[in-house]
Amino acid sequence: MKEYCDNHIHSFLSLDGCALLIDQVRASREKGVKHLCFTEHIDIELGGQNFLVDFPSYEKQIMEAREAFPDMDIGIGLELGDSKDTRDRVIEQSNVLNLDFKLLSRHSVRNIDPAWVEDFFDKVPGRTRDSAAKDYVLAVMNSVLRFPDWDALAHVGYVFKFTKDRGYGSLIYEDSPDELDIIFRFLIEHGKALEVNTSRFDEYGEPIPGVSLLKRYRELGGELITLGSDSHRTDRVAQNFPEATEQLKELGFRYVTYFMNRKMNHLTL
Ligand SMILES: [Zn+2]
Ligand SMILES: [Zn+2]
Repeated sequence: MKEYCDNHIHSFLSLDGCALLIDQVRASREKGVKHLCFTEHIDIELGGQNFLVDFPSYEKQIMEAREAFPDMDIGIGLELGDSKDTRDRVIEQSNVLNLDFKLLSRHSVRNIDPAWVEDFFDKVPGRTRDSAAKDYVLAVMNSVLRFPDWDALAHVGYVFKFTKDRGYGSLIYEDSPDELDIIFRFLIEHGKALEVNTSRFDEYGEPIPGVSLLKRYRELGGELITLGSDSHRTDRVAQNFPEATEQLKELGFRYVTYFMNRKMNHLTL
């Protein structure tokens, strides 16, 4: 069986998690995952809620999982949800633990999470698909340029993750080429990885970011990618990894990256 690494997994420790951490590890192992990293949510004032993590419990559960599955690399990470107004508090949270991996994430766009589809797409005056895409990419760009310490950038294209039924399609490079170039160049120059998120692969036939973005990133010289299922349930770990791996190889990527102790490791595709 091919060996995989899944760098974006949630458990009940995240406010929206739906599985025990140990069950996520077991399910990953069954899917051929050798290296996995939990990325529990830290997000402040997102949709009126604070996504915080019980750190002592997190460390304890990770230790227990490592003991139960000594043949696997089990990382402890955080998905750090950034926004201008909450950045300092998120950074403060992220410094509490000794982390293996910091995944920078942007859910809040002009103080609304696109997951709240009606609020984001219907209730904002003058909102169009185009303006949604541009506002989102600008927000991601600001996070990339201003958040101080992280390893990989999560799900670029998240803005259209929940709108398959509206026919907006994926975020494409032409939606905001200048800002996307700034983001990709920053990653390349600073040795940070771009996440390939497979949470909607079954609906879109491509990961987030989609093929046009990955193509441009590669064209500019981008090599570092992490693969993540963003699974909140046991049946979603490593979802569509074989298909995503094939796409990545076709696009010219040679390996995926994972982080332990904030250090990079590579696994050939
Ligand atoms: Zn996310
Ligand atoms: Zn996530």
